[in-house]
Amino acid sequence: MEIIGLFGGTFNPIHNGHLALALSVLNTLNCSHIRFLPAAIPPHKAIPAVTAQHRANMVQLAIADHPEFILDTCELDRQGPSYTIETLHLLRNRLPDQALCLIIGQDSYLKLPSWHRWLELLDYCHLLVVHRADTEHKLQLHAEHENRLVDIANAAERFAENTHGFISYLPVTPPDISSTRIREALAHAEIASIPGIPEKVLHYIKANHLYQS
Ligand code: ATP
Repeated sequence: MEIIGLFGGTFNPIHNGHLALALSVLNTLNCSHIRFLPAAIPPHKAIPAVTAQHRANMVQLAIADHPEFILDTCELDRQGPSYTIETLHLLRNRLPDQALCLIIGQDSYLKLPSWHRWLELLDYCHLLVVHRADTEHKLQLHAEHENRLVDIANAAERFAENTHGFISYLPVTPPDISSTRIREALAHAEIASIPGIPEKVLHYIKANHLYQS
């Protein structure tokens, strides 16, 4: 069966680290496509000063040249915190017969036990954890996930055989970029000189006067 990648984030703003990560996953798992899911209200972060609509618009601009990347705004239509488990419930109803794979950075995986109903995630999807700079070069698997780990060399095959239930670890490191550092740079630097974000996104930020102090 085909594998659909689900990539949630605040995307405040989307950057080249996100895009490199998604491309690595696309190639590794042979995903049919990857859905980018901007959070309306991220449960574990301060409410972004930039609206969800602006963040979604920037995602759309950044992925426009990649036909396998799709913007999915389902989290923008809900009230309250954007809990991933609720998004998965919705997508599973829409896509009952596909393998769904939630994609997260290693820093997010370490914090997974703080997510709402985290133990139910694997009832809806597989999980692919991608290494992030400044984290250990090894996945510290949560005890509750023992017996769910598959080697990355077999992940495309194993994930495609099941709609949900397995974890794998991609030991590839996307560029060391974070939205926080980009926001800081945008607040203090000459906007033309910000590295790490797509040109079209930079133009959008400039045109809409986002992130500038
Ligand atoms: P912030 O700096 O505001 O916390 P961020 O750069 O971590 O933001 P998010 O939109 O919160 O960006 O990230 C969405 C997902 O992408 C998370 O699972 C995060 O771990 C992962 N991610 C983001 N940037 C990278 C990167 N450079 N390398 C690996 N994973 C990343």
